[in-house]
Amino acid sequence: MQELQEFIREVKDFPKPGVVFKDITPLLVNHSMREQALQSLISLMPDRQIDVVVGVESRGFFFGTLLAAALKCSFVPVRKPGKLPFQTLTQVYDLEYGQDSLQIHTDGIKKGDKVLIHDDVLATGGTAKAVCNLVEALGGEVVQCNFLMELAFLNGRDKLKGFNTKAVVTY
Ligand code: 5GP
Repeated sequence: MQELQEFIREVKDFPKPGVVFKDITPLLVNHSMREQALQSLISLMPDRQIDVVVGVESRGFFFGTLLAAALKCSFVPVRKPGKLPFQTLTQVYDLEYGQDSLQIHTDGIKKGDKVLIHDDVLATGGTAKAVCNLVEALGGEVVQCNFLMELAFLNGRDKLKGFNTKAVVTY
């Protein structure tokens, strides 16, 4: 069986010098490896009673929608500011230098919804923590945060303490 890592391409100096970017497009191209990655994400979840999968712009949309289809539940996007057309809730979070923010539609999550948060990569954890805050502010329960990859050397899990955090591949 081929390993998922063989389909994750490392691109040096993208998007800026010094960064080695993990590119999942070779995984998306390959039907059987994409399916294997999806099944691996699903197998990280013993509790499949999920009402909403929240996918994070933009690479979290790919497997996020596939997960929602497999779990037969809703998909809700979290996006960068100014992209969502309806009424939104905004969460500001810290980056290494400066700040960024993310938005969700206020009608995306209902009180008591069981939510799976998905993104392609867990790096420093700032993005995922901001998404957890958005979901909880709308009354949702974060059942799990799952990722295709975790860059463990960046200690993203420290920011996600108290949340059930899983990844298929750890670097
Ligand atoms: P964090 O907030 O955990 O530092 O960064 C996670 C976010 O940055 C995710 O939305 C993820 O898509 C993106 N990201 C950071 N590093 C990489 C990388 O090497 N490859 C990919 N595909 N995304 C990354």
